[in-house]
Amino acid sequence: MENDKALFRKLKISTLLDLALIVPSSYSDTTLSSSLDLGVVGTFEAVVDEVSSNSGKLRVNFTLPKFKRKLSSIFFRVTPYHYQLFAKDSRHYIQGKLEEYNGYLQMAQPKSIKDIGKVVPKYKSVLKMSELTPLFSRYVTEKNLFDEGLDSAEVATLMRIHFPRDMSEIYSGSKFKDEIVQKLKFIEAFNHLKKLRAKRADFPALEALNGDIAPFIDRLPFELTAEQQSVIEQIQIDLNREDKAAKRMVVGDVGSGKTMVILSAAMMSLPRKSILMAPTSLLALQLYEEACKYLPDSVKIALVIQGKKEGDHLEADFIIGTHALLYMDNLPEAPLVMVDEQHRFGTKQRQSLEALVSRGEKKPHFIQFSATPIPRTQAMMESELLDVSLITTTPFQREVLTQTIGRTEFSDLLSHIEDEIEQNHQVLIIYPLVEESTEIPYQSLTESRDFWEKKFDGVYVTHGKDKQKEEVLLEFREKGNILLATTVVEVGISLPRLTLIVIVGAERLGLASLHQLRGRVGRNGLKSWCYLFSNTADNVRLEQFSQTTNGFDIAKLDLKFRDSGDILDGTIQSGQKFKWLDMGEDERIVARAKSRLESVKLES
Ligand code: ADP
Ligand code: MG
Repeated sequence: MENDKALFRKLKISTLLDLALIVPSSYSDTTLSSSLDLGVVGTFEAVVDEVSSNSGKLRVNFTLPKFKRKLSSIFFRVTPYHYQLFAKDSRHYIQGKLEEYNGYLQMAQPKSIKDIGKVVPKYKSVLKMSELTPLFSRYVTEKNLFDEGLDSAEVATLMRIHFPRDMSEIYSGSKFKDEIVQKLKFIEAFNHLKKLRAKRADFPALEALNGDIAPFIDRLPFELTAEQQSVIEQIQIDLNREDKAAKRMVVGDVGSGKTMVILSAAMMSLPRKSILMAPTSLLALQLYEEACKYLPDSVKIALVIQGKKEGDHLEADFIIGTHALLYMDNLPEAPLVMVDEQHRFGTKQRQSLEALVSRGEKKPHFIQFSATPIPRTQAMMESELLDVSLITTTPFQREVLTQTIGRTEFSDLLSHIEDEIEQNHQVLIIYPLVEESTEIPYQSLTESRDFWEKKFDGVYVTHGKDKQKEEVLLEFREKGNILLATTVVEVGISLPRLTLIVIVGAERLGLASLHQLRGRVGRNGLKSWCYLFSNTADNVRLEQFSQTTNGFDIAKLDLKFRDSGDILDGTIQSGQKFKWLDMGEDERIVARAKSRLESVKLES
């Protein structure tokens, strides 16, 4: 048993189904062939007719008694053993690829086989076969698989895969049959969901919260979208519980109106306090301004960012800040904690905020907001670990025209940029690098700034490592025409006059990043443009991106073009890869696995 545990560690697996899902990479099938199929590996009974050697090669002519045909074989690497083995008139079972040449059957280097009528699985593994196969015999049993919650067809599939009797039951050609693959997808999804559920830990809440949101909602200058409303209702249910602290992730595209959800939740926590953490001072400031604008005057709001404080955070109902919050020694207790743009924080930072305001076993309600859309399948999976709400629509239709361009269109681009600036709009140009590099066939920020500064007024420059980044952005927001930057502007600062973005070397970026960048323009409904500048013409990925505007569709598209990996890091296991499951396509399988898990849970 102890020994088995060590083997499981070597295999990097933790559940029985992990083991069962290690499937053979191929099979050796020694069933005698019933027909002479050319081009495929066959197994035949054969009697040696004659043996001859020629310049180091050995030729053996056999008769195949069952088919009354002759077959000739050549062995290239010959040892005395071969002469001994293939003595005239000796009988063999030979295996190899059958071919025909000028009407003569041939088989190059056949293997002589002792046991026939056996199908033996071959695994690619860090373990030796003598270590691995006993594990399957011991653990992959019908009883164990039923106990895991699989149904009889799924159990039978796994048993056939590991203990095959007849290849035709599992393979078609040299691949698993489709019905087998479908079962493997389901089992893979089910296993993953079970593991996530086992990890979920719930704690009692500090307090049940049910503050009235009407004084805020009624004053809003617009109507909330149906999705905003339903997320808010869901959070009302979450926060109203005392036995279980909320743990929810609200995922919505840039501009989907998550701030209104944040402000509603802050209302619910009244008369108790709530805390909101944002990844940058600029964002915290923006949220603070919006909170002051939309929340009733009676709500006391405080801002805590490095080097700046607004309002008294000890008195405040709603404290907004950056990670500077984590270093305050007198942060008041708050039964609701929120994190905006959570994907920009490390797991540690998010957890320490939560821990800072926990009291013993009791935890604050914890709601995170993310602007990185994930495919619905992934949200379904991850909701085993924490509740997930999706906001898939935006309050107003943004009009952003996306287009791939190259060098030849550069002068057109310049005149378009001039037009926009003339209309008091702003332009953002994203470069792949700060300094020049021989590895990237595009100009860097440093190389090109001269060009723009000579040609235009109000050119601002910043990048990820720039210490003055936030000041530059703030000044640009007020006075600038063109901002040259690296992907730094991903941080959700709102630049309402921004109507044109150029992404240089767009083909080098992931679709999620491109989508984030494109989300910078047209925030207030101004007609806008996103130019994907690329040296490589006809990039299918960029073309499809140009046609797709919804972030959730982009996430699906992204899965099509790269291996599915988790987009949410931190709370969610990162780098999760599925061998069989396709997160873009297999929504129904994941849904079935989820409902199976529900029914298994009810039984136990
Ligand atoms: P997110 O944080 O999800 O990127 P915001 O909360 O910043 O998006 O909202 C984007 C813009 O849409 C803001 O200017 C906000 O005031 C506005 N907005 C939010 N909800 C609505 C709504 N229901 N109707 C009209 N405008 C809205
Ligand atoms: Mg936001």
